[in-house]
Amino acid sequence: MISPAETGDDDRFDRLFRPGSLDEYVGQEKHTENLKVFVQAARRRREPLDHILFCGPPGLGKTTLAHILAREMGVTLHATSGPAVEHKGALAGLLTKLEPNDVLFIDEIHRLTPAVEESLYPAIESFKIDIMTGDGPYATTIQLALKPFTLVGATTRTGLLTAPLLSRFGYVMRLDFYPVEELERIVLRSSRLLEIPIEPAGAREIAARSRGTPRVANRLLRRVRDFAEVLGDGRITASIARKTAERLEIDAGGLDEMDRRLLRVIIEHYDGGPVGIDTLAAALSEPRDTVEDVYEPFLLQQGFLGRTPRGRIATRRAYEHLGMTKPTPDQG
Ligand code: ADP
Repeated sequence: MISPAETGDDDRFDRLFRPGSLDEYVGQEKHTENLKVFVQAARRRREPLDHILFCGPPGLGKTTLAHILAREMGVTLHATSGPAVEHKGALAGLLTKLEPNDVLFIDEIHRLTPAVEESLYPAIESFKIDIMTGDGPYATTIQLALKPFTLVGATTRTGLLTAPLLSRFGYVMRLDFYPVEELERIVLRSSRLLEIPIEPAGAREIAARSRGTPRVANRLLRRVRDFAEVLGDGRITASIARKTAERLEIDAGGLDEMDRRLLRVIIEHYDGGPVGIDTLAAALSEPRDTVEDVYEPFLLQQGFLGRTPRGRIATRRAYEHLGMTKPTPDQG
């Protein structure tokens, strides 16, 4: 329930909660300050922004930033995703629709097929695209000039991109998990948008249990609102937030049932590891990508999980968090 991956219900709220400008965007200041400069410079030169790649776990604000950039540039954003661009023709269709300096946003850009990716290269390098016309002996390639545009890509890990694609981005921005204070600001802002009365301690409690992720914070806020309305007087307090988290099995560290299951599997089935990622994913009955992109990053960042050349290990902190004792080597 609290997984950072997007669900249908999120889509509507994601749009409602989406900040409209870089100034409203909470946190990641080092990067947003740079983005402001790039926008100003590009606007002054009346040129498109250089191509930008956002990378990081789901729910950290990559799509939001793409929308903000288009808005700050005063251009239109055209959104698609890697798997949705099925063939070169579909890509050509998208590219030829772009107006000068528009933003083409490709989410999950690492999932483009090699053929589509290759035909994207000349488009982003020199705003040209090769189009095949006719077939059989009459087939010819014609080159079509495109209007200058900005490609904004989003991916969960840069390691998933091919080197030629990665090298074509002028700026790569890695998004980090948000500290509690920033999530608290996001929760307060969303409460204002939903007109929910909230106490600062309530916002803090929600922020602390949100896996460093704005999408999770916004979702937890909506669930706490339900409990506040049904069990209380509608006001969000620390105690209602805590009660909600307990009901949803989110612990004080923000770990949910799946996070704890992952750590427990390593500890109980594999003596604390190392265990290979494929074995771990199979034991959890989850796709490997989901384990790597959705669950692991936060556990690694928080020091519950370690990565070694031979696989994943549960750290001492993981044992302690689960109320278990890490056996010393001589104890077995
Ligand atoms: P991603 O594309 O990385 O999966 P989104 O951009 O869709 O994430 O963000 C998920 C939700 O979190 C949206 O509702 C968005 O408004 C909110 N959000 C993300 N980052 C921020 C931020 N820095 N400040 C305020 N809200 C944010």
